[in-house]
Amino acid sequence: MAENQNQITINGHVYAFEQDETILTVARRNGIDIPTLCYLEKTIPTGACRICVVEVKGARSLMPSCSTPAAKNMIVFTESAPVVEARRLIIQLLLSSGNHNCDIGGSGTEDCCPVCGACTLQDLAYRYQVKGDRFPKTDTLYPPELNNPFIIRDFSRCILCGRCVQACNEVQVNNAISIGYRGSSTKIIAAGDRHLKDSDCVFCGECVQACPVGALVEKSTYKTREWKTKKIRTTCSYCGVGCQINLHVHYNRVVKVTGAENVPPNFGSLCVKGRFGYDFINSPDRLTEPLIKENGEFRKASWDEALSLVAGKLGEIKEKHGSDSIGVLSSARITNEENYLVQKFARAALKTNNVDHCARL
Ligand code: SF4
Ligand code: SF4
Ligand code: SF4
Repeated sequence: MAENQNQITINGHVYAFEQDETILTVARRNGIDIPTLCYLEKTIPTGACRICVVEVKGARSLMPSCSTPAAKNMIVFTESAPVVEARRLIIQLLLSSGNHNCDIGGSGTEDCCPVCGACTLQDLAYRYQVKGDRFPKTDTLYPPELNNPFIIRDFSRCILCGRCVQACNEVQVNNAISIGYRGSSTKIIAAGDRHLKDSDCVFCGECVQACPVGALVEKSTYKTREWKTKKIRTTCSYCGVGCQINLHVHYNRVVKVTGAENVPPNFGSLCVKGRFGYDFINSPDRLTEPLIKENGEFRKASWDEALSLVAGKLGEIKEKHGSDSIGVLSSARITNEENYLVQKFARAALKTNNVDHCARL
C-alpha cells in the first residue's frame, strides 16, 4: 500500500479507501458485515435507523457508518461492546413498536407475519439475541390498506426506515409516496394520505422490494413461506428490455417475482407487468394446444394439423396474390433467436421482406 494513500483501520486491519467512500462502503467492499436497515444502495444515505453505528476512536459518540465519510487514519470498531449494546437497544425499541408478532418479536401468535424468515429486523433480533418484550408495546394508529390488487400496506409493521420513499422517489423517480405527519403519528403517505390506488403510484413494486420488514408485501392468494420457495433466475418475457428477474417457485408454481439485484439492465427494478403479471402462468384458461375455427366455433387440433393448415393457406395466398401480399409481424416477447427465425421464414420461405416487429411501433 503506498505511504500517502488514504488508509483507514477497521477492526485492526488497514484498508485503502477512495475519496467519497463512507465507512460502510469501505467495510462492505472488504467483506466486513455491518448491519443496516435504512441504507439503500444508489440513494443518498439518511442515517435514520442507526443500526449501522460503529465506534470511531476519538469520537464522542457512535457514528452511523452509512453516512460518515471514511477519513485518513480513522480507527473503527464495528462490533465493540458499545456498538452491540446500541444495536440491541434499537432492535428492542423497533420490536416493541407496532405489531412484530413473529417468534423473535414477541408473542408468536398464529397470525404470524407473512415475511417471517425473510425479514431483516427478525434476522437482526436473532443475530443480537434480543426479543420485543423489554419495553411496553405501542400500538399503530393506522389500519392496514388492502384495497389494491398488488400491495398490502401494513403500517403496524412499518419501522419508518424510509427505504420505500427513497426507492419510489430516487430510484424509480415516481414520487408517489413521502413521509407524512410527525412524531408518534409519522406514517408513509401517498398523495396527501390517500390510498395507493388513488395516488400517482404505478405499482412498480420497487418499494415492496426495498422494504426490509413485513410492512409492504405482495398480495398473493397462494400462501407459502419464503424458505419453502426456490429462486430461479430468468429473463422477463413481457418486452424487449430483457429485465433480469427471480421467479420464486413453490412446487412448480410461481408465487412471487422479484428483480435480480446488481445486474443489468434493470438492477433490481421492474415494472408492474414484470413484477405482478405472473398469474397467467398457472391459469387454467391458458391455451395449451392449437385451436382451429370452423363454422364460427373453435375446435382442438393437433400441431401437425394446425401447421399444415396455416402452411396451405399461406401457399394459396402467395400463389394467387404474390409474395408481397403477405406480411409477418413479430414480437418483443420472443427471443432474438426466435425473431431471427421469423425473418428467415419470411424471407426464405415466403419470399417477402415485409417483416416488422411490435417493439418498433
Ligand atoms: S416484520 Fe419482521 S420482525 Fe416484524 S413481525 Fe414480521 S417478521 Fe417479525
Ligand atoms: S409501487 Fe412503485 S410507484 Fe407505487 S409507491 Fe411503490 S415504488 Fe412508488
Ligand atoms: S414501509 Fe417498509 S420500507 Fe417503508 S418506511 Fe416502513 S418499513 Fe421502511
